Amino acid sequence: PLHSHPAGRHFLQIPGPTNVPDRILRAIDNVTIDHRGPEFGVLGKSVLGGLKKVFKTQADVVIYPSSGTGAWEAALVNTLSPGDLVLMVETGHFATLWKKLALKLGLQVEFLEGDWRHGIDPAQIEARLAADKAHQIKAVCGVHNETATGVTSNIAALRKAMDSSGHPALLMVDTISSLGSMDYRHDEWGVDVTVAGSQKGLMLPPGLSFNAISAKALAATETAALPRSYWDWKEMLAINPSGYFPYTPATNMLYGLHEALEMLFAEGLDNVFARHDRFGEATRRAVRAWGLEILCQNPSEYSSALTAVVMPDGHSADAFRKAVLQHFNMSLGQGLSKLADKVFRIGHLGDMNDLTLCGTLAGVEMGLEVAGVPHKKGGVQAAMDYLTQSSMAALARA
Ligand code: PLP
Repeated sequence: PLHSHPAGRHFLQIPGPTNVPDRILRAIDNVTIDHRGPEFGVLGKSVLGGLKKVFKTQADVVIYPSSGTGAWEAALVNTLSPGDLVLMVETGHFATLWKKLALKLGLQVEFLEGDWRHGIDPAQIEARLAADKAHQIKAVCGVHNETATGVTSNIAALRKAMDSSGHPALLMVDTISSLGSMDYRHDEWGVDVTVAGSQKGLMLPPGLSFNAISAKALAATETAALPRSYWDWKEMLAINPSGYFPYTPATNMLYGLHEALEMLFAEGLDNVFARHDRFGEATRRAVRAWGLEILCQNPSEYSSALTAVVMPDGHSADAFRKAVLQHFNMSLGQGLSKLADKVFRIGHLGDMNDLTLCGTLAGVEMGLEVAGVPHKKGGVQAAMDYLTQSSMAALARA
């Protein structure tokens, strides 16, 4: 590498894990305490309560010391039985991984084909559920923000479609790359299980995952016959109200979570979402100015957390990303499975401000030049113009 010990900070602009703020790193760097002692209960209660506000729920939230995949598994094993039919939509790589996990658990999956450029079509779900007169489908599972594509799905519309069909299936939603960066409402949108992780909008390192659980999902545990032990909600929920956990929790990560929640609430969730919306818009303006193509095809489904950019034909996205890393010490997201080498992803979520975004986009624009990717100049300028104007407009309103 050109910079084996580069000066300045590495730009971690993948769509998660995101840059961890110093405040959170300092919080994690505290002595580990007795997880059965009095001090811990205060911490446990505080983070469990704070999380509810982020999920926008009055219902229970559980915390696992695992990556997001564990919370995917927990959602399924707590609510379903072997051979149950689950309806999923191929929005991209992560929807496909969740499907594979469901199959490994012994569930049946009907996987509605997708082109990795669009979100879930609520009308298609409504029609499929309406046709399922025998109510064989036990759950509909969808990814709110497909991290592989930068395409979102409209969960409120999906809920409405499910209600119109009059079908009783559970609704499970993966918000691993949207929670804490894009508007999400577990209760209002009638979601039964929301799955999330620590390493994206919550600005923490990887290592914690979450389930928010509706009363209907909790009732489903009574008949759900898939084997479960470590992921069993009941064990968690029995002891969580006192702030404790059935097994050794990730104490230091919980210090970090406590700090992250304070930061999100101090900024205000609506301001956090608006900040990410601005980053998404600024990034898309840059991409268009470069003359490159945004992978997401429907503007109402643009992600505010990341933008996937299509490489011009005959050019390697991975060679471009490698050049960006070597020359400018920045990591961009790679294309996953079907999209390998065809797209790169700009993460614009987490602990970021206008100048972090400008630096990121400057790294992309310079990278296009050094990697010999055909493009027009002026992407960073287009982003700066938008950020400047929207910042002035916001100040004038205040
Ligand atoms: N779902 C989505 C939308 C993701 O972005 C990811 C990871 O990037 C996962 C699930 C899997 O989570 P993990 O890698 O933390 O197990």
